[in-house]
Amino acid sequence: MVDMNQLQALFGGTFDPVHYGHLKPVEALANQVGLSRVIIMPNNVPPHRPQPEASSQQRKTMLELAIADKPLFILDERELRRDTPSYSALTLKEWREEQGPQRPLAFIIGQDSLLTFPSWHHYETILDNCHLIVCRRPGYPLEMAQEEHQQWLDDHLTQHVDELHTQPAGKIYLAETPWFNISATLIRERLEHGENCDDLLPAAVLEYINAQGLYR
Ligand code: ATP
Repeated sequence: MVDMNQLQALFGGTFDPVHYGHLKPVEALANQVGLSRVIIMPNNVPPHRPQPEASSQQRKTMLELAIADKPLFILDERELRRDTPSYSALTLKEWREEQGPQRPLAFIIGQDSLLTFPSWHHYETILDNCHLIVCRRPGYPLEMAQEEHQQWLDDHLTQHVDELHTQPAGKIYLAETPWFNISATLIRERLEHGENCDDLLPAAVLEYINAQGLYR
């Protein structure tokens, strides 16, 4: 019998700030595919890239507040502590080495990230170390722009959740998660204009943003 309680997933991002478009699809996903835990990993943004508006410490605190009452999630600060770029391929390789060769591991991304995925550093090695689980995001096509990337996707695609549990890595699963038309950019813009964001992110995170005077 398949043990459906072993699959762990990693969910990376800038989280500037964390919002319901991050949290709710992943919570739905955990029920749909059976995730034992989700490791949230905020990334370090190297100096030559556009900087997040919130500091690393503030992004971390917002995540802590967002997941305080959600035991599914745990926070991993390893990328924040680095002063080198956060390359998912390297982080996932390191995670695989820690977990051993057999344990099923997954990396969660949104549909927008799938579309740019082939431009990521050593993207083709990522499926050696984990599965890819993709959450839907409104406004983004379901097909890859280039034929060779669509072929890569088709080669790894599965519709069988079981395979995510019985194989350690190598599959791509497009999950039917609920759509949330929310982005951190939208929230930053709304806050800058003094607009209401109550339905877009957890109240504790919004209170912290206001107390810190962020995104004004
Ligand atoms: P920004 O607007 O600043 O670019 P973002 O809202 O896209 O930020 P990130 O921290 O860049 O947030 O995203 C982290 C991960 O969460 C990415 O894999 C992204 O695809 C996914 N994600 C973000 N928002 C959503 C959403 N509304 N629905 C599904 N996935 C999402």
